[in-house]
Amino acid sequence: MADEVVDEMTRPTIDGAAGAGSSADVVIGIDRVTKRFDDFTAVREADFGIRRGEFFSMLGPSGCGKTTTLRMIAGFEQPSAGRITLEGKDVSRVPPYKRNVNTVFQHYALFPHMTVFDNVAFGPRSKRVSKSEVKGRAHELLDIVRLGDFADRKPGQLSGGQQQRVALARALVNYPSALLLDEPLGALDLKLRQAMQLELKRIQREVGITFVYVTHDQEEALTMSDRIAVMSEGVVEQIGTPEEIYSSPASVFVAGFIGVANLMPAVVERIDGAEAEVTLPGNSRVTVPITSATPKVGTTATVMVRPERIHVRMEPPPGDVPRVRTTVIDLTFQGALVRAELACDDGTVVIAHVGPDDDLPMLRPNDVVWLTWEGDAARLLPGLDTTHGKKTELEELEATQLERSLERVNPSLQ
Ligand code: ADP
Ligand code: MG
Repeated sequence: MADEVVDEMTRPTIDGAAGAGSSADVVIGIDRVTKRFDDFTAVREADFGIRRGEFFSMLGPSGCGKTTTLRMIAGFEQPSAGRITLEGKDVSRVPPYKRNVNTVFQHYALFPHMTVFDNVAFGPRSKRVSKSEVKGRAHELLDIVRLGDFADRKPGQLSGGQQQRVALARALVNYPSALLLDEPLGALDLKLRQAMQLELKRIQREVGITFVYVTHDQEEALTMSDRIAVMSEGVVEQIGTPEEIYSSPASVFVAGFIGVANLMPAVVERIDGAEAEVTLPGNSRVTVPITSATPKVGTTATVMVRPERIHVRMEPPPGDVPRVRTTVIDLTFQGALVRAELACDDGTVVIAHVGPDDDLPMLRPNDVVWLTWEGDAARLLPGLDTTHGKKTELEELEATQLERSLERVNPSLQ
């Protein structure tokens, strides 16, 4: 993506209020930080603040620059441009051991010959904290991670999840300004990982220390975070609460990366303040709210609607509402709801979740049905998903679909 496009499309969509230094409650400031490795830019002009006491996640596909950003906060890497602040002070040139942050890696190295208690007490002891204070703190942290009864065991006598919690207690015992976690649950199996997600969230609430959490797993980020920074190819695409990012994605990338999104190509006909009138596949005209950068009239942009916000009707819905004619391709029963795969007249595929409230007769493939949604369920997003290379086969298929539809909607575009 060319620099000027990044600037125009991405910068205005980032939560400005969260910018570094804009609030007294910012613990970590990422101040226009760029990181280059030779001529490769791993992080491009990241500019945001992480607030005191929040659970903040950096989310994005492998290679998007999450670990590099975390390593710059920890001090293991230096920014090529911009600066990092901790508690308001520029720490860009301060070595890791002098920064009041602690990192938990996926491969936490506990001392195998020491007891759990001694592992946790090791940090404060080496900082010459008084004996009684060390004891108090270590027991407090072991209680918080619910290992109070395991203080005398050796790491080898604990399960993977318990060892992980010892590593957490050890990282928190010095009361750092922030705890940095880089995919710490990656090595655990699914059940344990899900249980640990809730544990981590509870522990973070209890200690009240800022957590900066790196993950490529959207569900993990949505479950645990107060706010999420979604990254793609070194660029922070959006920062917001899980709810904001899910319901008002700022870009096609964010919409497609988080949850299931219907991304319909649409020609922008008219812009009226915070709303745009667009033509959807099959020539239906709808009015869509604009929540991020405004696409230009005459261009093709993307209308995003989540599957659970789409209503399926047997007849064209009356009145001034969105209305798209589709044909049923496939139906999958998923317990309380049916996942309907539908084709618009131009071939664009839309997924809708049909529930008992929709009050429909039994649908079959080839049935013609009408889609509608409440006005605020849709979002107009600039551009099409052509810039992000790393995809699963399914995502690739969807992207191809989108491009083909674009050519049908607006044949004058290449
Ligand atoms: P993530 O954690 O999001 O998977 P990283 O921050 O580890 O991504 O890496 C981002 C990009 O920077 C990757 O393309 C990676 O290969 C590159 N990169 C990371 N560290 C180095 C390094 N020390 N030298 C060269 N390239 C690096
Ligand atoms: Mg990483």
